[in-house]
Amino acid sequence: MSETSRTSQPDETDAAGLTLQIKQFALSAGADVVGVADPHAWDEHVPEGHRPYDILPGTESVIVVGSRGPTAGAWRSPLHRVMEVNGYDFRNDAAIHRLADNIETQLGYKAIQAPGLPTGGHQPPFSMMLAAVLAGLGTRSLAANIILNPKFGLLYYSACFTTLKLEHDCMLEQDVCPHTMCVESYRRFGTTPCIAACPSDEGGCLDGSIDDDGRIDYSYYDRERCVSRAMNFGINSFQKALAQIVAEDDKDKQSTMVQSDFFSRSCSAITHYKESVAQCFECMRVCPIGRQERKLR
Ligand code: SF4
Ligand code: SF4
Repeated sequence: MSETSRTSQPDETDAAGLTLQIKQFALSAGADVVGVADPHAWDEHVPEGHRPYDILPGTESVIVVGSRGPTAGAWRSPLHRVMEVNGYDFRNDAAIHRLADNIETQLGYKAIQAPGLPTGGHQPPFSMMLAAVLAGLGTRSLAANIILNPKFGLLYYSACFTTLKLEHDCMLEQDVCPHTMCVESYRRFGTTPCIAACPSDEGGCLDGSIDDDGRIDYSYYDRERCVSRAMNFGINSFQKALAQIVAEDDKDKQSTMVQSDFFSRSCSAITHYKESVAQCFECMRVCPIGRQERKLR
């Protein structure tokens, strides 16, 4: 296919049909939800260099998929390491990779997976949370700013930029958080389930308030504290352990450190082996959003 035909765009009717087709493909590839955002919707939220068309010039659409991580059974397991190990299996990444391939090979438009990983510390080149909001898949919550989907609650998101112009979805009009039950809880007890699970004034990470209209008025999230509790195994722990191992002169002790549970779990986490990614789900465990989807026999 020539470059000219690649950059020509479908008319409105064809765009509607292609949007439907792409959404169905994403769902069959492992997504639980899928939305399409206008790449210029980023303009008012992020600085230059972090917008979709900065990363793929000519981007016309941003397709965002969300997938559930842990199964309903995993949420109910009394062994919390089940969530740690099975909490996040990159199903959303697999779905978006297949989708990008499909757009390029079947439709002849450029497509890339959005770079969501934090290559710059806590400042990823592209915010997957913002992508989910702009694609109409969820809204920010009082629990660590996690984007909650109205049907599933916590989801893991991936996105794809493409030069194909599709129909764009609108953002949700209704906030997902706080749930009516949480508004009631706040009015009666001055707290919500997530904040009560991890209150900042008792050494936790969360605080917030709800206004008279039942909307988030103020929210506080101590990200550094949360990361040190919820993500003990990963790049940081690997770097820390490696420096200690290299500096150890006693060969027997060094060997023990290499074989240790801590170093093994750190290695597993950074190699995307099915191991520790997150170790704390407590604010989400108590959240009523999406609970219905996890009620099985
Ligand atoms: S993930 Fe854990 S540590 Fe982080 S805010 Fe939620 S309850 Fe607190
Ligand atoms: S428990 Fe869930 S719905 Fe309720 S305030 Fe916290 S995040 Fe929002």
